[in-house]
Amino acid sequence: MTLPHLRISQPHNGIFAYYDGRVAGYRFDPRPNWVDEGGLGLGIASFTLVEGKEAIVYDTGTTPAHGTAIAEHLKGQGVERIRIIYSHWHKDHIAGTAQILAVFPDSPIIANIRTAEHLTTNKSDLESTRRWPPITPLALPTETFDGTLKLTLGTRELELHCFNIHSDDASVMFLPAERILLAGDTVEDPITYVNEPQDFAKHIADLQRLKSLNAIKILPCHGADPVIASGGYDTNLIDATLTYTNWLQSLANTPENPTQSIQEILADHFTENHVAWFEPYAEVHASNVQAALGLRDG
Ligand SMILES: [Zn+2]
Repeated sequence: MTLPHLRISQPHNGIFAYYDGRVAGYRFDPRPNWVDEGGLGLGIASFTLVEGKEAIVYDTGTTPAHGTAIAEHLKGQGVERIRIIYSHWHKDHIAGTAQILAVFPDSPIIANIRTAEHLTTNKSDLESTRRWPPITPLALPTETFDGTLKLTLGTRELELHCFNIHSDDASVMFLPAERILLAGDTVEDPITYVNEPQDFAKHIADLQRLKSLNAIKILPCHGADPVIASGGYDTNLIDATLTYTNWLQSLANTPENPTQSIQEILADHFTENHVAWFEPYAEVHASNVQAALGLRDG
């Protein structure tokens, strides 16, 4: 598979984004599949941090070809050793690991304990054609942590922090000196994707905790490519996510509200350019409403 729309940018010195999708008419495959539905249709980025011969890979790509592209880009810069980090266990973030390991064998794969549990539990399912395309073989984490893990890359200090936002196993990466946050799927532009509506209260509490990191540049995996390429979002993206999650949580008590559009719910945030409209998220919103009303399984 070639990747005609892969855009590699450098949002910050030594931080690279590998962004694909959000291109009208561009699909991985004409059949229904998770690569297009969750990933390329909305646009998705993986990230690497490079310092000298060392690199950190934050998510391995949405397809094997994306993993190969990331590995080749790192190799081209003279990188010899890498560590892989999984932002969370969802398929569109971990599908390129085997191809990266083919270029950088025996690299550690770091994830929090919940990500490791989900991947271990779901390994045979993820490797099967029940969820086409299968991820074969699925590479499980080799090192786990909980709470916070501090890492060093050259002169850079990095922190991994666990959150329950979007999924109960989010690991965000925070660079305290530069206050840059690689947010995984904890925030998206314009709205979050809800899989676990039973945890709305935890999501809201943890979004407040995410805000308290005081990041000034936020790089989400699903966002607008030009914003990511030029350094990322500010904390208003977290506020917009809070507004939206609070609205979804309140739906159970206000069942007359499901007809509200994203534009109405986030009107102020659109006016202030905290988030921007992207048509495919109308479907995400409809699906989130179903989840919030208990009409859709996770
Ligand atoms: Zn996800």
